[in-house]
Amino acid sequence: MHSAPRIAPLCDSSALLDAWSIGSALVGIYDERDNLRHANDAFLRAFNLTIGDVASFDSIIHACFRDKIGVRIDSDDPESFIADAQVRRRPSPSVARQRSFPIDFVDGTWFWCTETLLPSGWIVLTGADITSLKQAERELAAARDSALMLSRVDELTGVPNRRFALSKLASVLNSLDSAEADFSVALLDLDHFKSINDTFGHETGDLVLRHFAKHCVSSVRSLDLVGRLGGEEFVILLPGLNSEQAKAVLDRILATVPPVPVKDCQPATISVAFSAGVTQAACNERPEEVLARADKALYAAKHAGRNRVEIDVDVRERHESGNSCVV
Ligand code: GH3
Ligand code: MG
Ligand code: MG
Repeated sequence: MHSAPRIAPLCDSSALLDAWSIGSALVGIYDERDNLRHANDAFLRAFNLTIGDVASFDSIIHACFRDKIGVRIDSDDPESFIADAQVRRRPSPSVARQRSFPIDFVDGTWFWCTETLLPSGWIVLTGADITSLKQAERELAAARDSALMLSRVDELTGVPNRRFALSKLASVLNSLDSAEADFSVALLDLDHFKSINDTFGHETGDLVLRHFAKHCVSSVRSLDLVGRLGGEEFVILLPGLNSEQAKAVLDRILATVPPVPVKDCQPATISVAFSAGVTQAACNERPEEVLARADKALYAAKHAGRNRVEIDVDVRERHESGNSCVV
């Protein structure tokens, strides 16, 4: 019966060298003066070198920079890149140690490198190809960004959806910490929208909603927020504006709503109007309180004949009584 082979110390490294010569893993060995003394085929290919060349760490980096090969160097100064790398490769005082880090190459490949500084001052660098992992990481990040975007945006109009608009309302209210900080909120509801759907069809109704959202967005400042709460109802958050100023903005939006052109229909354009309720928020208020007041003003606007903007009565009374916020 044969006895099982035993594990022995690695004296003959020929199997190791054979393995390194195959495939994409990088192997490069530098002496204590940073001259490249050994390199496998993958390393030679990556840096456009051949056996017999005289190459040092510095000359390899200079060639990468000059010929746009090998390692991607974003810095426009190779000397500072080398100086920076040497601080990590050969720290002072020099002690044997190992470090691992990713490197990306100009051809789009990525390697996870392990660099070992030996007591002799020689450096052994090995690198495993992680390009497919990096690609998966990028795809995952893109999928996450797109999911985040979809969770915030109304699919039909492209403006922030109800959830995002209301969370923004809550965070602006939270950040109102001074009696002087004005912040107004407007609720808008298209007038007789059902009859647009009934007359021109649901698809044209959708088109009207898209046009209207675009008009609102292009009529306000970038710090304002236009959101679709649902159906034909929108909200506009106007930080820094009191209710009178906010009403002026809404009046201007109302006066300039462009008619929506429709193909193969008579009439060829649809006039769009809305009613809106504006309220000014006070600090320490909850979003529901602010929205309830704006809704009351919106109801008043509808009741008064539509196609108009109303400020809520409570705000007017608060202004008249000079009530202010305690922080
Ligand atoms: P008012 O002036 O009182 O606001 O009347 P209105 O017709 O605008 O209001 P109503 O609530 O009676 O009708 C709203 C309509 O909006 C009914 C609903 O079918 C339609 N609607 C809701 N969501 C959408 C949508 O995403 N697309 C389209 N095309 N229509 C929608
Ligand atoms: Mg409505
Ligand atoms: Mg309506």
